[in-house]
Amino acid sequence: MRKLKINKEEYQIFGIKKLPSSVFSLPTFLNMKYQVNEKGYYGEFGGAWIPEMMYTNIDELKCRYLEIIESEEFKKEFDLLLRDYVGRPSPLYFAGRLSEHYGTNIYLKREDLNHTGSHKLNNTIGQILLAQKLGKTRIIAETGAGQHGVATATVCALKGLECIVYMGALDVSRQEPNVKKMKMLGAMVVPVHSGNKTLKDATNEAMRDWINNPEDTHYIIGSVVGPHPYPDMVARFQSVISTEMKIQLKEQTGSEFPTRILACVGGGSNAAGAFYHFLDDEQVELIGVEAAGKGIETGETAATLAVGTPGVLHASKTMLMQNADGQITEPYSISAGLDYPGIGPLHAHLHKTGRAKFLSATDEVVLQSVLLLTQKEGIIPALESAHALAALEKIAMKPEDVNVINLSGSGSKDMETYLDYFGY
Ligand SMILES: *Cc1c(COP(=O)(O)O)cnc(C)c1O
Repeated sequence: MRKLKINKEEYQIFGIKKLPSSVFSLPTFLNMKYQVNEKGYYGEFGGAWIPEMMYTNIDELKCRYLEIIESEEFKKEFDLLLRDYVGRPSPLYFAGRLSEHYGTNIYLKREDLNHTGSHKLNNTIGQILLAQKLGKTRIIAETGAGQHGVATATVCALKGLECIVYMGALDVSRQEPNVKKMKMLGAMVVPVHSGNKTLKDATNEAMRDWINNPEDTHYIIGSVVGPHPYPDMVARFQSVISTEMKIQLKEQTGSEFPTRILACVGGGSNAAGAFYHFLDDEQVELIGVEAAGKGIETGETAATLAVGTPGVLHASKTMLMQNADGQITEPYSISAGLDYPGIGPLHAHLHKTGRAKFLSATDEVVLQSVLLLTQKEGIIPALESAHALAALEKIAMKPEDVNVINLSGSGSKDMETYLDYFGY
């Protein structure tokens, strides 16, 4: 492994001289091969590389999250909202014409049918309930494309809690419809003018806010990233996807084990949810698909595992896109939801151990996959989700294989891009 590099910008905003090592030592009861260990690590990745000033917030969360989310009361409330508010279970749909096209069996896990149009609400519902149990009254979040911001503003409206969403100033101007949605939902959107004015900078600002408001505020992180216990907590909330998949596969194919599961990977939360209950079923092939952007060799990419090296970003040791000085390089993808310069530590570990395979798909191929699904099945997918579909072009599949694609979101938010590109 290359020498661990520290992202200097993160380092400076916290005004600390030295990064502490992981601050946690208390054991949790999990010790499976692909689960987080008692110190918050997945193999060599993860941990809580936080400045001392954030210790109180993180420690409270880390000490209480399992006890809360595993309580009967929590599970009951969570399940009820997933059913009646989010609209779960999401269907597992056998895509007949797409299957015929590829000469195999393809099933789509329809997360695009959830309220607000993606898997993101599974996590924000879980975290808003947790925040309430912790007695928090003020919610903060970061957002890039605005999808997580909208999902957070939605649950804050649902529960009547104050909501502040940090968003890079550049993203605010690029994602106007989502900014307006958040405002209509009652959230305050704070444009962040530091750095590249995008997601990474918004995350820095949210962390700074949290440090200044440790008493009343909960920070809802939008993916399986950030310090322990976030990656584990978010993966657990999203794991409802694979819980349902197992039941639905058993019903529809006679076996709960598919040949492979494919999911797109930005931070990695929809993939983590789709993989979660299959992690120990090693006969099931797990495939994550990153955004190659204009191609991994062009530098205009967001395929973190393809071009990244180990380092620390947003308080987690993981793989990231950085230059020789450890400065984060700006990611690029046509899909705003995938251009994050890091990846969750679980995925870094699955990559390192070979448990999951990671491919990437370019903008061009992804757009063709959007059109293919649209015209074969009458489903317009999100740009992000179409990365998983694009991988079907690359892998060898047998006629009897059962392939499950996690269709993370709906394409309604991407219509402008589609109309521009396809010229309708
Ligand atoms: C945000 C988003 C993603 C990427 O986030 P992950 O944490 O990697 O799942 C993927 N698909 C959709 C539809 C999204 O909104």
